[in-house]
Amino acid sequence: MPGEFELIRRHFARPQDAGGELPQGGRRGGVALGVGDDCALLQPAPGQQLAVSTDLLLEGRHFLSTVAPERLGHKALAVNLSDLAACGAEPLAFTLALALPRADEAFCAGLARGLFALADEHGIVLAGGDTTAGPLAVCITAFGQLPPGQALLRGGARPGDEIWVSGQLGDARLALEGFRGSVALAGEQFETVRRAMELPQPRVALGLALRGLAHAAIDLSDGLVGDLGHVLARSGVAAVLDADALPRSDVLAAQPLALQRLCTLTGGDDYELLFTAPAAARDAVLAAAARAGVAVACCGRIEAGSGLRIVDGRGEPLPGDWAGFDHFA
Ligand code: ADP
Ligand code: MG
Repeated sequence: MPGEFELIRRHFARPQDAGGELPQGGRRGGVALGVGDDCALLQPAPGQQLAVSTDLLLEGRHFLSTVAPERLGHKALAVNLSDLAACGAEPLAFTLALALPRADEAFCAGLARGLFALADEHGIVLAGGDTTAGPLAVCITAFGQLPPGQALLRGGARPGDEIWVSGQLGDARLALEGFRGSVALAGEQFETVRRAMELPQPRVALGLALRGLAHAAIDLSDGLVGDLGHVLARSGVAAVLDADALPRSDVLAAQPLALQRLCTLTGGDDYELLFTAPAAARDAVLAAAARAGVAVACCGRIEAGSGLRIVDGRGEPLPGDWAGFDHFA
């Protein structure tokens, strides 16, 4: 079995990620020195702020042992790029900390395939990391850049804003219910929602397009109700949310309404963006989403006060207690 350094060399140290002489103004201009030394050296564009986000994925808690290594590699990076997207940052580079029960070549090769496929899609570099023996865990830190003052934050929502979400919600949760056996899904349907759970697409282009347009943004990782709650708390505002306006896939829409509500309102792992923007900016929001190639749907509005009111399409309050996911609950 290969040792730690051989594993890194074979699977995670790519010549094209090394840094050094870089094309002027190229997308890889963010890394001056990559894997191999004690530190990586990052060089954001002059005058830009660094945006940094870390996510730790543990087997059994954040992913199932059944996930293909390639998809795990994709997802580990995707969830970090999703955080950069939520802030409107342009991704530059990432580091990878890996704990492996054993030096499993096939696993590392698969993980690297998924990781680098997504990294290359976004033109970013693996700049360093750490590798150790231990229970399977994947921790990525992603670095991005943005002009000072332009980050999209949770605290910027204002009364009169409309609430928007990208893509479709709830499929990842439906897939989890499928894995648990609490919902019976036909083979093809299960594959569709399983892809949503295992291969989320970070909305980087949308985040960039929303700079200067959205008042507040967050990425949906722990369920819409809880994540919207963070925006409301940080912004000091209230909201009304139309549960029937939440976009969902045909697979989810074919399920009983109660399950649709559970999945769209509280399901985690969607990695879509939720953002608020003034009602007068509606056309600009739709144009930005079209530029980014992502569908967006308006599903509520921000009001003065505090708390979240969830209604159905006729404006009637939704019964029930809807709470987000808390790792320690
Ligand atoms: P140190 O002992 O200084 O922490 P290491 O021996 O752990 O350095 O790592 C050697 C080099 O390999 C460093 O440049 C580090 O960033 C890189 N590295 C280690 N593990 C990984 C990994 N999983 N992916 C990418 N680079 C890695
Ligand atoms: Mg080390």
